[in-house]
Amino acid sequence: MLSKSDMYEISRSCDKSFDGIFYMGVITTKIYCLPSCKARTPLYKNVLFFDDKHSAIDYGLRGCKRCRSEFFPNTQPLWLNKLLDMMNNMSNKLDKNTMEEITGVNISTIRRYFQSYLNITAFAYHRKIRLKHARKLILEGESILDIPYITGFESLSGFRSAFQQEFGINPGEMKHQEHTK
Ligand SMILES: [Zn+2]
Repeated sequence: MLSKSDMYEISRSCDKSFDGIFYMGVITTKIYCLPSCKARTPLYKNVLFFDDKHSAIDYGLRGCKRCRSEFFPNTQPLWLNKLLDMMNNMSNKLDKNTMEEITGVNISTIRRYFQSYLNITAFAYHRKIRLKHARKLILEGESILDIPYITGFESLSGFRSAFQQEFGINPGEMKHQEHTK
């Protein structure tokens, strides 16, 4: 059994692993949050904890806009799914206008969402996908000189350092390893 102070500490550290296990109600603002909510944790005397959403709602509290507690566990907005699909299928660079077009939401909403829920920027997230695609191309024997352009990197050196950072090995070494297997 978690005590009130345990739950308070968990909420203060924004621990995602307790989402759905309890909800933190804020008496002053009449809102209830997930433990992982990034909003500032109120004073101890102003919070109450609930085992489920319904108890929080019965108490007269509303869902939080920031952590979307009322939608938990389906906290992803529809536009995000569209964007993730697009990112997964698009191996070259994705610009701000295209992202806004696909999702129908403003780039600042996209930025905020990625930062607060996925803890990574939208561009960094998509770069990871492009790097995975690049790795696949290397393993398929594509020329390393062509890959940066196919996967939307400005230069070979930029591609190299991003690749090294992601996989801890540079593209040439990976190609070599594959050949000597
Ligand atoms: Zn919240």
